[in-house]
Amino acid sequence: MKHVYQLVTFALLSVFVSSQIRADEGMYPISEIAGLNLSQKGLQLTALEVFNPNATCLIDGICRVNGCTGSFVSPEGLIITNHHCAYRAIQSASSTQNDYLKDGFQAKTRETEIPAAGYTVRVTESFSDVSKPVLNVVKADMSFVDRSKAISRKRKLLEKQAEVDNPGMRAEVAEMFTGKTYVLFLYTYIKDVRLVFAPPSSIGNFGGDVDNWEWPRHTGDFSFMRAYVAPDGSTADYSTDNVPYKPKRFIQVARQGANEGDYVMLLGYPGRTARHKTSSFLSFEQDIRLPYIVDLYGRQITTMEKASQDDRAVALKLLSRIKSLANTEKRSRGQLKGLTRAKIVAKRSAEEQKLQAFIDADPARKAKYGHLLDSIDAVYQRMSETAAEEANFQNLRITSQLLRMAFTIYDAAQERQKPDLERESAYMERNFSQTVSRLKMIQKDLDLSVDQSLLAQLINQMQNDEMKVTELDGISLNDLYEKTKLQDPAFLQACLASDVEQLNANTDPFMQLIVKLYPRYLELRESSKAREGQLGLYYGELITVKQQFLDTNFVPDANGTLRLTFGTVRGYSPEDAVYKSPATTLSGVVAKTTGIAPFITPEKVLEMSAKQDFGPYLHPKLKDIPIAILYDTDTTGGNSGSPILNGKGELVGVNFDRAFEATINDFAWNTEYSRSIGVDIRYVLWITDKVYGAKHLIKEMGLN
Ligand code: ASP
Repeated sequence: MKHVYQLVTFALLSVFVSSQIRADEGMYPISEIAGLNLSQKGLQLTALEVFNPNATCLIDGICRVNGCTGSFVSPEGLIITNHHCAYRAIQSASSTQNDYLKDGFQAKTRETEIPAAGYTVRVTESFSDVSKPVLNVVKADMSFVDRSKAISRKRKLLEKQAEVDNPGMRAEVAEMFTGKTYVLFLYTYIKDVRLVFAPPSSIGNFGGDVDNWEWPRHTGDFSFMRAYVAPDGSTADYSTDNVPYKPKRFIQVARQGANEGDYVMLLGYPGRTARHKTSSFLSFEQDIRLPYIVDLYGRQITTMEKASQDDRAVALKLLSRIKSLANTEKRSRGQLKGLTRAKIVAKRSAEEQKLQAFIDADPARKAKYGHLLDSIDAVYQRMSETAAEEANFQNLRITSQLLRMAFTIYDAAQERQKPDLERESAYMERNFSQTVSRLKMIQKDLDLSVDQSLLAQLINQMQNDEMKVTELDGISLNDLYEKTKLQDPAFLQACLASDVEQLNANTDPFMQLIVKLYPRYLELRESSKAREGQLGLYYGELITVKQQFLDTNFVPDANGTLRLTFGTVRGYSPEDAVYKSPATTLSGVVAKTTGIAPFITPEKVLEMSAKQDFGPYLHPKLKDIPIAILYDTDTTGGNSGSPILNGKGELVGVNFDRAFEATINDFAWNTEYSRSIGVDIRYVLWITDKVYGAKHLIKEMGLN
């Protein structure tokens, strides 16, 4: 498709000049690249070669792979991303006989590439500012909940219309600045994604949760996937007739990697940050939400790990979920530590005091904005009072996968009675098939005994918290789990075809339970919308006055849209007298290998390392294979799989993590402690080529 970019000014984002760039805000929307003066930092391409609204450019080679990022590395739709991003697909394809998580996977031919159920790939095609039409629907006398609903309805309408105008494409209205700026993005949308190559977990997840969020790191966190489309190039569900997608542009892989001191930049889809939120939000995170997550997830992980320990079939259902909870649990611990250590709440509150003084200094300004910080604070105060109860209740329906299924089925029946635009987004026509396919994946990975233990645990917790849920009075979990049929695909199908009345009469105990709990979930949904409407209004105004105060431009928080960040390969000093250098080596992998999980290394790797059989992938100075590198870019979740690009725009590594101290990036970035971690391309290529002999992929990437 032809580019239809319309340059967006993100309202507050006019053109940057390098002296204005604030080092703490580095996830730049692509519309800002031209103003960044990157040639002074080490970029050897012109800004237009990176992003050009009217011609093919570097960003055409970048894609979003579910919640991660990937790069096209061949003209035939080959994608490189992280092992942990493909993890769910590898797990789904695995069985106790063909254990690809344990042994790795390699498709020797295109025909043997495995469909990655539930995966989609997006490529950013265009964007336009729709703040005006979105905010025009807001009326002064609207209640907060109506405000929130009106904005959401308009966003859905714009998305739907854009998809009608651009058949086959995916549209999304992203909120850039809360309550203030909205941008409509159009994506090429690919629904047939396949697994091509994955190293064994002993490489792709070496160090497991022990090393996750840590530096130094020795993980080969990469995998290859491929995007497919219909023979005419249009998007299509999986079919053997489909052909590899031909990206407008692919990213050239550069065998020489990146070394200390080199300029690097990442393009990717960072998920969420909260740098424009107030100190009261940060206090809520620090005192309430994060400790709750650490506690709840910690217990759930222990239960699931126990069940998986001696039963591989059970493990193959749970590993992906365990990994994701463990990732969030440890990140939350890092954030808690960082919030306290770097005194983030106190710093933000000091900034707010200055802002308040500025507001109060002018009567007109005071009349308009004087209440904002207090009003926002009051919202979080109220949230704190009900937080434990709300969190327990919400977690009830996602902790038990059976309750999750029952909820979705019932919610779908309720919502699908409404006109499309009035529905919760998961049940709109454009999204419903994905919702159903997610339900089927949940069903495939059900383990009733683990599900029961997790539910029992949470109900216990609710009792400890003295939370009364009368709907749960007198229920027998044994009865529930013995009598349910939700694990039966035909029953799921029948439930999905039922209307509300039929579901009300359904005798499945989980359906009956959800029917009882549902009104309370609706109340919670409404109150969360009211909160969203209120905070949206206040935050929108807060940004306006903050901009007057600081007289500078801001970068919007991460929101899953395409961003660029740049920096240098460099070490750091996490604490007094400790310096960590920015590259690890294969010798380090060998030294760390104990033979006990998660520090097991495949025999072949150990042998080739002993023989120093490195081929062209040797690091000339280190005289070894480089494994991972450290650099000071500004990244968050969603940047997983982002290409690490050198000054020529070539791929020299794949981003996969951050150092423990940098988990705090989500709230505040700092040049001292914010470090991202990526796998060096030389390790990727050595594993793919020399260790597992996937020469066809090396050739496909143009690296003979
Ligand atoms: N490993 C991280 C994640 O998956 C990537 C990051 O957040 O930097 O969330």
